[in-house]
Amino acid sequence: MYDDNNIFAKILRKEIPCNSVHEDEFSLFFHDINPQAKIHILGVPKTQSIDFVDFISHSDQEKVICFFKSINLVIKKLNVNKSGYRLITNSGVDGGQEVPHYHVHILAGEKIGSIR
Ligand code: 5GP
Repeated sequence: MYDDNNIFAKILRKEIPCNSVHEDEFSLFFHDINPQAKIHILGVPKTQSIDFVDFISHSDQEKVICFFKSINLVIKKLNVNKSGYRLITNSGVDGGQEVPHYHVHILAGEKIGSIR
């Protein structure tokens, strides 16, 4: 079950500040507090979704489409479309997910190493 005490829920409610790069009706994008690359942005939909499957399974199509359109917009805004980027989502224990609110990581600005 979704727990709205998680850190991203607090950031979405503006109880905790973040360094925002984009916000719209359905999503918020901000810099990761512990960046793993020169550019490390987190994209968080404004739905109460735990992970990818929960988001896709239980959200209105409009919200899903708008979230992925916003990822596209942020990638263009960061101007990394040509140089490249890595889009990641972690899920559950095996996926190493720390914050139980669905989000994507956009890593860019330098060569991102191999996954393992
Ligand atoms: P996960 O492992 O859940 O996919 O990633 C969670 C990410 O959230 C981590 O990269 C971590 O550095 C980031 N993070 C955790 N707490 C905060 C916070 O309070 N502010 C920001 N901006 N990022 C956070």
